Amino acid sequence: MTDLWLLPLALREPPELLRWLADGLAPVFHVEVGLLPSELALEGGRHPRRRQVDAGWILSQLLGLPDPGLVLAVTSEDLYLPVFTYVIGEACLGGRAAVVSTHRLHEERYGLPPNMERLRARAVKEAIHEIGHCHGLVHCPSGACVMHSSSSVEDVDNKGHELCPECARAVARRRG
Ligand SMILES: [Zn+2]
Ligand SMILES: [Zn+2]
Repeated sequence: MTDLWLLPLALREPPELLRWLADGLAPVFHVEVGLLPSELALEGGRHPRRRQVDAGWILSQLLGLPDPGLVLAVTSEDLYLPVFTYVIGEACLGGRAAVVSTHRLHEERYGLPPNMERLRARAVKEAIHEIGHCHGLVHCPSGACVMHSSSSVEDVDNKGHELCPECARAVARRRG
């Protein structure tokens, strides 16, 4: 039984990215990860002037899908929220929808040569982080914990790739 669905939305990275995310998420949350066909058009969430898509709009679209369970949308589009110039990801706290963007996770964006390993590490951390929010986790004060808040790619690199013991216990309690 699939417990967590990945939904590619205007995703331009090679399909391995989705496998990396699935492999990263499955052992942390003890879930079966599946792939949903990408049928959602992003046009309704695109800002007329910013070259960005509203992350909240994406979440509302995911919540409107016919009962897919927990769903993580993965997009190459740049995301924003009305109160933030950009976000790397966004999730419904304790809910069943999350989105993560690879837009700001590429080395090329910062004038560096492409590095797939680094992209992979960053994307997996942010996917775990957002699905952690869906499991009711809030931002963790531990700088080593993947639930530590990250508003830039440096923050993503600086934090660890795992849940700290306390966050892991909270996920285990929720699973029951
Ligand atoms: Zn967060
Ligand atoms: Zn933690």
